[in-house]
Amino acid sequence: MRTISVSDLRPAISGRVIAQDDDHFDEARTVFYGGIDRRPAFIVRPANASDVSRVVSLARETGMELAVRSGGHSLAGHSVSDGGIVLDLSDMRALKIDVEQRTAWAETGLTAGEYTTAAGAHGLATGFGDTGSVGIGGITLGGGVGYLARKYGLTIDDLLAAEIVTADGQILHVDAESHPDLFWAIRGGGGNFGVATRFQFRLHEVDTMVGGILLLPATPEIITAFIAEAEAAPEALSTIANIMPAPPMPFVPKEHHGRLVIMAILAYAGAVEDGQRALAPFRALAEPIVDMLKPMRYAEIYPPDESGYHPVAVAHTMFLDGLDRQAAEAITNHLQASNAQMAVTQLRVLGGAVSRVPVEATAYAHRQRRIMVNLAAMYGDPTEAARHKAWVSAFAAALRESEGGRASSGAYVNFLADEGEARIREAYPKPTWDRLASIKARYDPTNLFRLNQNIPPAATRG
Ligand SMILES: Cc1cc2nc3c(=O)[nH]c(=O)nc-3n(C[C@H](O)[C@H](O)[C@H](O)COP(=O)(O)OP(=O)(O)OC[C@H]3O[C@@H](n4cnc5c(N)ncnc54)[C@H](O)[C@@H]3O)c2cc1C
Repeated sequence: MRTISVSDLRPAISGRVIAQDDDHFDEARTVFYGGIDRRPAFIVRPANASDVSRVVSLARETGMELAVRSGGHSLAGHSVSDGGIVLDLSDMRALKIDVEQRTAWAETGLTAGEYTTAAGAHGLATGFGDTGSVGIGGITLGGGVGYLARKYGLTIDDLLAAEIVTADGQILHVDAESHPDLFWAIRGGGGNFGVATRFQFRLHEVDTMVGGILLLPATPEIITAFIAEAEAAPEALSTIANIMPAPPMPFVPKEHHGRLVIMAILAYAGAVEDGQRALAPFRALAEPIVDMLKPMRYAEIYPPDESGYHPVAVAHTMFLDGLDRQAAEAITNHLQASNAQMAVTQLRVLGGAVSRVPVEATAYAHRQRRIMVNLAAMYGDPTEAARHKAWVSAFAAALRESEGGRASSGAYVNFLADEGEARIREAYPKPTWDRLASIKARYDPTNLFRLNQNIPPAATRG
């Protein structure tokens, strides 16, 4: 193993190398989630795929831990290393949109919001998630579930090709014809197979749409009725229901602050009149506390993100195949019992285009699951972690109970925290896991890319 000094590295890299004694080192090592305080040996912000290849080779040759970062939103803190190298792609933000062909090549330092704003200028969109500051690197490699999911599927369903730097330092063009095994694996298998430097996406015509925030009271009846409407809605409508105590935001009337509400975000990707018709049943579920549904440009669905917001959070990802009264009561009871600064249950009704892709076509395999659920508590003091973890586990068990107490309710890899291999396996049914492990053995036999929701290479597993 050889060692490397920053002064040796700088001349070999066209991009930037940020050392521990640089003024903005602390800022550069900060990730989205709070309570993660790791000091890498240095941070490299590559300028191009050749830089990425050099850094990957350096990690291989020195044995230093390698953290790969696109938008820095990993709940597990995987995009920063203690003592290792951070490969931070945020200076690689080129975007080439081919309006005629409706495709785009995007470097992976872009955020979902930046890509969406640029594509929106042409009346075009690729679906990402619910938050503009999330990096297109992480969200795409895990699947990508957002406001266009029911109409156009997951982000990976619009992924046409990628440029991947593999563990041996090669820069590969990957698509359905070229390295099809790798192309399958990166559509849901996360950062296990290499560094994605560019993605080619399909774009859809999504210009004016109808949607925004609808705030409703959250009783068990209204929650079950909301989910029933979301399942019955036309596929052009995707919904995200955040059930939570109403935050003291300026648009929420004071008398509702702290009361349980459904903070729903709805997006109808289609004609305005049809959208208004599709939204009417949601407005009729109860007297809305706030109704901000309106025609808008698609890119407006991402409001500006709060800078400097670093929540400390515990979360649990799972799926449900329906939401009955028992489940809705479990939701309201557990949210009311939490003493976190903020406790949230997020329900996303899927189906539609997500479920029409065959399960074995990509590494995201929960295509037939009907509702993606994320339970989360945000709190200020990291020493409270055990209490909130116990809360989230009991809450998840109660929801599993509502479906007859199944042992595994699945997991969405992008919503996993640092929860161990058993939970990663819940993201991948056995045939998917086995196939991923054998592709991992082919492209990353020494598990160089291990600071992630790790799938160890099949050959090393004995
Ligand atoms: C506020 C918030 C809202 C979210 N909303 C949604 C949502 O609506 N829908 C949804 O699907 N997900 C959502 N997510 C989850 C999100 O998709 C994951 O956290 C994702 O991993 C973040 O990607 P990132 O690039 O920002 O994170 P990073 O922390 O930079 O990356 C996470 C991991 O992905 C891998 N990775 C990232 N970039 C690359 C790359 N270029 N090459 C190789 N590996 C890479 C690495 O293993 C890295 O550790 C949300 C997360 C947050 C914090």
